[in-house]
Amino acid sequence: MKKKNEVIDIIEILKQTYPNAKCSLDFETPFQMMIAVMLSAQCTDDRVNKITPTLFKKYPTPEKMASSTVEEIEKIIKSCGFYKNKSRNAWLASKMLVEKYNSILPEDIDELEKFPGVGRKSANVIMLEAFNKPQGIAVDTHVKRISKKIGLSKESDPLKIEKDLLKQIPEKYIRDVNHVFIWFGRDICNSRNPKCKECPINKYCDDFKSKK
Ligand code: SF4
Repeated sequence: MKKKNEVIDIIEILKQTYPNAKCSLDFETPFQMMIAVMLSAQCTDDRVNKITPTLFKKYPTPEKMASSTVEEIEKIIKSCGFYKNKSRNAWLASKMLVEKYNSILPEDIDELEKFPGVGRKSANVIMLEAFNKPQGIAVDTHVKRISKKIGLSKESDPLKIEKDLLKQIPEKYIRDVNHVFIWFGRDICNSRNPKCKECPINKYCDDFKSKK
């Protein structure tokens, strides 16, 4: 766990480093956000953004997607990892949205987690990006790694990591953390070759200090 002033320093430095950090997935509606985030598991946002223009042109609404078939969706998203599972989840989620929610995606994190293919992480992303109502922190591979390295959490389970982060990060920074940690993880604190010497927050990093 870190001291409150250190946590704020870390976030402020990362905000200055990545002033334009935002969600990299392209979408126009909450339904499209849900599908895009579903496709992004184990796949890069760039890859997803190459797929979704064709997908959303053919299926712009949950009704259109639900009236198609899993096999038709598979043909469009084939270049995405785990495309068979994702196609099935996208079709089932569209059907559920039409049948149980009158085609309107609920603005409620617990309701979102009921959709096939939507876990806590995706539900957090949807609440923030589609509804502008951040509820927590989406713990992806970057957030998980950075939290451990810096010393914000010793946990491995994303739910526990999120709890640790929410205990330490002031509410007004939750939106920023969702964006800047991901950009920082892609840019500097990446898994293969972290650029620790040029890292703007290395003086706060437990991992870096332990290797000095
Ligand atoms: S010092 Fe290295 S390990 Fe620590 S946060 Fe920076 S890049 Fe990541």
